[in-house]
Amino acid sequence: MSNLAPVTANPIHPLPVDRWTQLLRLTEGLDAHQLWWLAGYASAAATAKASVASNHATIATTSTNASSVTEEFQATVLYGSQTGNSAKLATQLHQSLSAQNIPTRLIRADQYSLKQLKDERLLYVLISTQGDGDPPEDARAFIEQLGSKRAPKLKQLQFAVLGLGDSSYPKFCEVGKQIDARLTELGAVRLFERADVDVEIDPVAKPWLEKAQVQARQLHQQSTQSSPKSSTKNLSNNVAVLPVRLQHVQASVIANQRITTAQSVKDVRHIELSLEGTGLHYQPGDALAVIVSNPSITVDAIISLLAISPEHEVQLDGKRLSLRQALLERREITRVQKPLVQLLAQSSRDVELTQLLEPAQGAALNALLQSLQLVDWLARFRAKPDAQALVDSLRALKPRQYSIASAQSLVGEEVHLTVAHVSYENEFGSRFGAASHHLANRKVDDLLSISVEANERFRLPVDDARPIIMIGPGTGVAPFRAFLQERVERGASGKNWLFFGNTQFRHDFLYQLEWQQWLARKQLHRLDVAFSRDGAEKVYVQDRMRQQSRELYRWLEEGASLYLCGDATRMAKDVDRCLREIVAQEAGVDNDAASQYVLELIENGRYQRDVY
Ligand code: NAP
Repeated sequence: MSNLAPVTANPIHPLPVDRWTQLLRLTEGLDAHQLWWLAGYASAAATAKASVASNHATIATTSTNASSVTEEFQATVLYGSQTGNSAKLATQLHQSLSAQNIPTRLIRADQYSLKQLKDERLLYVLISTQGDGDPPEDARAFIEQLGSKRAPKLKQLQFAVLGLGDSSYPKFCEVGKQIDARLTELGAVRLFERADVDVEIDPVAKPWLEKAQVQARQLHQQSTQSSPKSSTKNLSNNVAVLPVRLQHVQASVIANQRITTAQSVKDVRHIELSLEGTGLHYQPGDALAVIVSNPSITVDAIISLLAISPEHEVQLDGKRLSLRQALLERREITRVQKPLVQLLAQSSRDVELTQLLEPAQGAALNALLQSLQLVDWLARFRAKPDAQALVDSLRALKPRQYSIASAQSLVGEEVHLTVAHVSYENEFGSRFGAASHHLANRKVDDLLSISVEANERFRLPVDDARPIIMIGPGTGVAPFRAFLQERVERGASGKNWLFFGNTQFRHDFLYQLEWQQWLARKQLHRLDVAFSRDGAEKVYVQDRMRQQSRELYRWLEEGASLYLCGDATRMAKDVDRCLREIVAQEAGVDNDAASQYVLELIENGRYQRDVY
């Protein structure tokens, strides 16, 4: 009883006095579980009434604006509870979302039907597991229906599951796991990973509840931003303060196709993801951030070199997890830093390692840091550091960004990427890039955690009549596919010119057919290609630019915007130098004046780069 709202002489409540007295009498002496049940009962009753009211509203407004009504946002917090813990957490979530003005309903599983599930957009399921993997009583029917053939396809649904259980039972959180898997099987998109709550509830439940709020807030904001009726005034501020890592949503792979031949030295993938139900939007020029895990083959090799059990526990951010999981999902192992070398020097007492750390050896150390992955360091120096010290010396695994290779004006609820699969052999074995390996191995229907990273500094000209020059060797061509798609869809009258380079014409001319079609339709006006390994001498994009220097300068004088995308370390520097040389030559000015010309292009937003 003591947990109930305090009873004061003049309580602030919406009930008539006689009902209030009845309520006090009814609840007197009830234990926490009974009170939570009552809260759920009242909530479900309120939901039923509200839905009748909203049905009326829908009917009333359908005739005037059907689409805005059907797109109205509502989150549903669904729970199944045996001892009251799930109900309590579900109520907490419901209250916090409601307090933030996010339309939310709280509903117990036995009040919920599959018919409702079909229309759901955002669903949070909090569910406990009893004994040997059984559902709580109030969720039995729901679990059965969900598992049956009658269960609807749920492409429109985004969801997350919090399982509750007791890890001393073999089927710990089994029901949560089943729901999580079944919703995915039905086509729903998992917003973020399921969490399994053990006897100690808060350490696992709290972060999950926080994520659920952040995601609901974001989806709500997106829905109100896209709704013509709503005001977006304060929303963008809120988006800006959200932690980046929590803005990721799950998107399924639609296609993963190699677009270089089997003979090519490069395995480049064209990857398409579905954005259906994610609410994500992007502009040509934006990047996609992808949460990745490290190659398992490399992680296993590391663990075997360390001669430690993969299940050996380490502590990260106050939580314990297996060494294998830490290396797979939480720590950078393909890019390492000096703290690792310091640790290896201490633990192995290797003379070469100790010398590498001397100030005079800075360049040698950097070269090795660039070329060796963690597994190579361990193999080469035969070091066996302590597992905890090792994970502490590594950085947190970060999402990776790829320039988006599609325009939504053409592809709708899809996003395309162009990914070069980093894969090579060295003296110790096969090595892979973390992100590209993760992406290259995704199959159709696999899910990826993604978010959009806006890039306001890489945008098509607002004036569609302005010509554009795009320079994109290798996968640097990705955003220019997006640019062309967008210009064509917009019916932009400005001319388009692409400089593309790669190793061999026959094997790695990325998107060759598309460029040729655009050329044939006079939507791409010029295409200059440089295949570096087709002839005796290397030819690069800047060589083609030099050959076309007069024309290129003429386009700039006509007001063209120039874009450069690709490798930052060498290519971008060389192309930039080449551009200044072209200006100096064609304008007949000295180097300083040419540099000033290029500077003005940059200041006027007419020379933009996306290089890394
Ligand atoms: P790449 O290694 O950049 O090679 C593409 C072509 O450029 C090859 O023909 C290469 O010739 C040539 N090249 C080498 N050095 C050059 C130089 N100094 N100047 C001009 N051309 C030069 O291609 P990639 O493997 O596809 O890598 C693309 C780069 O773009 C990566 O650094 C990536 O990080 C970056 N990037 C990618 C994206 C994306 O979304 N995928 C976006 C932005 C940036 P040779 O190899 O025969 O010498």
